[in-house]
Amino acid sequence: MSTTATPLPPECDKVILTAEQISLKVGELGQRISEDLHGREAVLVTVLRGGLFFLADLCRKIDLPDVRIDFMAVSQYSPGSGGAVRVTKDLTDDIAGADVILVEDVVDTGLTVNYVHSLLTSRGPASLRICTLLDKPVRRIADVPIDYTGFELPDHFVVGYGLDLRGRYRGLPYIASLRDEMVM
Ligand code: IMP
Repeated sequence: MSTTATPLPPECDKVILTAEQISLKVGELGQRISEDLHGREAVLVTVLRGGLFFLADLCRKIDLPDVRIDFMAVSQYSPGSGGAVRVTKDLTDDIAGADVILVEDVVDTGLTVNYVHSLLTSRGPASLRICTLLDKPVRRIADVPIDYTGFELPDHFVVGYGLDLRGRYRGLPYIASLRDEMVM
């Protein structure tokens, strides 16, 4: 099956991670998580909406007695807010005493995941790990303790596999980079 059968959006210049590369990496991450949490149950939490695709694939690659899923949504932090974000949708379930994995599509400045990590920590999970598919370390502002990283990327805007450009292109099966002239 061809990975580029889905046409590249006009704003993009190339596929940087194919569906096969993503799938292999998700399998590896799932295996590492299964080994680390061996015999325990896990709760995967993601921040809507970008992390949804990664969470859905990852939870099916984790081999544990049970894997629950839950979701949060936060408003984007605004410039000058010091990274403060507002929760617009909270978790459905209590995570006290649970082994929680915060699943992210991308850690960029780290401000969002840093905020959500602190919030989840305050709820008393037995353990809290961060798993991100993509990491852009050169853009980091907040120091974030990432336990599992799929791919490290340079400072370039990407779309697909959950990541959007103003709400578009989340459903692309691959991850593509935006053409230089499209970057704001
Ligand atoms: P943060 O800067 O680490 O707080 O990331 C905030 C959010 O910015 C991420 O959860 C993504 O939704 C978005 N983001 C960062 N980089 C990209 C990208 O390359 N493509 C699409 N969204 C991105």
